[in-house]
Amino acid sequence: MMSGIEGKVIAITGASSGIGEATALLLAERGAKVVLAARRSDRIEALAARITEAGGEAVPVVTDVKRRADLSRLVATARERYGKLDVLVSNAGISPISALDDLRVEDWEEMVDVNIKGVLYGIAAALPVFREQGFGHFVHTLSTAGLRIVPRMSVYAGTKNAVRAISEGLRQEAGESLRVTTISPGITETELADSITDPDAKSQIQDSMTKIAMPPGAIARAIAFAIEQPAGVDVGEIVVRPTAQS
Ligand code: NDP
Repeated sequence: MMSGIEGKVIAITGASSGIGEATALLLAERGAKVVLAARRSDRIEALAARITEAGGEAVPVVTDVKRRADLSRLVATARERYGKLDVLVSNAGISPISALDDLRVEDWEEMVDVNIKGVLYGIAAALPVFREQGFGHFVHTLSTAGLRIVPRMSVYAGTKNAVRAISEGLRQEAGESLRVTTISPGITETELADSITDPDAKSQIQDSMTKIAMPPGAIARAIAFAIEQPAGVDVGEIVVRPTAQS
């Protein structure tokens, strides 16, 4: 019997590590054809090979979400290779957090470019295709940082809450043939802290990751849950935290 995932063509940004990688592995295991997007070509090529060797289907597409043309190419590759695109998981993100007083303006700009504009470019690439097909599903990775604002996280939380607003508007405009899901992970053990340039903030996050983080598979399972629902059912918002997170 076809599951709600089997046979679906699912493009995932940020597939080279952490949540995106775990999501790609789980969805491929459940029969999806996954299109793997990230800048690190070695990582997504190795992941595609791993999935293929296990009997799954995957194609890597080197993608910088800061470039609109890359997102267009990602969606085009999915259609050329597999004939359609069922789901775009816009998951790529960075969190170079710091206090506003530090004026790490380049980090602010980078977060806006990757976390907000990267998602918008995904919408620009996939929405016309979803309209033409008459079906499609956007999944956007937000953060619990957007639900409870704490010092050093204001710009990061702001980018995630911008995407929350965009996603809700998209859902309202989408009509009954499209689905829009946001998922807000709590602290998850990934490489996310690598992008932090403020040493204090970096050790704060690394400390939390060591003490209470969930494995990224916890988020992958929640994304799979949203995708496997029947066409008329839209899982709007999911929050998944470690029980130890305040
Ligand atoms: P990772 O650092 O492990 O993964 C981030 C992914 O984003 C990588 O695959 C990276 O690939 C990709 N990425 C970063 N910049 C770009 C870019 N310009 N173009 C394309 N891809 C890019 O962290 P996570 O798995 O944790 O992060 C995934 C999402 O989860 C992010 O949106 C993050 O904000 C969110 N999140 C994470 C939490 C956590 O505690 N880990 C908590 C809440 C939300 P590459 O460098 O190869 O391009």
